[in-house]
Amino acid sequence: MAHPVTLIPGDGIGPELAEATRRVLDASGAGFEWEVVDAGEAVIDRYGTPLPEHVLQSIRRNRVAIKGPITTPVGEGFRSVNVTLRQALGLYANVRPARSMKGLETRYEDVDLVIVRENTEDLYAGIEHMVGPDAAESIKIITRAASERIARYAFEYAVANGRRKVTAVHKANIMKLSDGLFLDSCRTVAAAFEGRVDFEDRIVDNMCMQLVQKPELYDVIVLPNLYGDIVSDLAAGLVGGLGVAPGANIGTEAAVFEAVHGSAPKYAGQNKANPTALMLSGVLMLRHLGETAAAERVEDAIRGVIAEGRAITYDLGGRAGTSDMTDAVIERLVAARPRNEAGAGAASLTAS
Ligand code: NAD
Repeated sequence: MAHPVTLIPGDGIGPELAEATRRVLDASGAGFEWEVVDAGEAVIDRYGTPLPEHVLQSIRRNRVAIKGPITTPVGEGFRSVNVTLRQALGLYANVRPARSMKGLETRYEDVDLVIVRENTEDLYAGIEHMVGPDAAESIKIITRAASERIARYAFEYAVANGRRKVTAVHKANIMKLSDGLFLDSCRTVAAAFEGRVDFEDRIVDNMCMQLVQKPELYDVIVLPNLYGDIVSDLAAGLVGGLGVAPGANIGTEAAVFEAVHGSAPKYAGQNKANPTALMLSGVLMLRHLGETAAAERVEDAIRGVIAEGRAITYDLGGRAGTSDMTDAVIERLVAARPRNEAGAGAASLTAS
């Protein structure tokens, strides 16, 4: 049976990466019925908003979406579509795995981290105002309910994926109330997993230094929204950069899969950007849909292409275009598909 999935191409390099990912997923052996809906800068003139209601409705209906990055104007203009989407759909867990890949020149060979970022509150609650003409105030919201929920997700993820340790990250020495509440909530949840998953905590600045020096000491890392945003880019840097860093936004009613990187407007439309991060987000989506064999095939094909180093994009040290790298992944994927699955995974495309 084909999985109905909402596909949001996004801004900048988004449409070309979304097309590359759709082609790879269609060749994975799993079947998809794509519902393509647009959000972002390009639709503001048409709908008066970068996030039209029918986009949210499509995701609510299909319960699963994959999206390209969407541009957010800096310091002015509309509120981040990405943040609004996560809040509107209650996508409370942002999961960003960072795993070393053979063939990529990085400082470490065996990094295997999973960043679990709280996705709905903290300074991203969007509550800020001017206090007179020369001072501004942004309010950091931390609640026990959201903190315990994300900690529970991190521990349950650790158990389900055979991981040994969860590290909570905070700045509770300075923000004794807000980050103190986050840490206390993590400790409460950790107590319920004692004996099954180890627990420790780190102050965020120390965490950054430790990750750069000894990433092998860490496993699942749970953080409030802002630290999670920053530390996940750091983790991406440890394994080859933003071009290879996937992500998932998980809620109780829907899941939206997207790369960690942004819309990189300077490379838009040049067939230059690396499609790996969005393709690996597609792998996370396949796992979420229970398509484990297809997920493994796609991941192996991507890793194979990168290890071989022939058809890789500029950011990985190669000269291939987005479409060349995509073709190379599909070639491996088709060769790896069991005979009885050939011809399966038919895709259909609807647009609205
Ligand atoms: P960016 O991730 O777009 O770019 C940072 C650097 O990484 C640039 O040098 C870029 O060229 C490079 N890069 C990013 N993705 C790449 C890829 N797939 N292949 C090769 N190189 C790649 O970050 P930015 O410049 O800070 O942000 C640009 C826009 O994207 C902003 O409007 C920002 O708000 C938005 N953004 C969106 C999301 C999202 O949709 N989830 C996430 C982050 C940033």
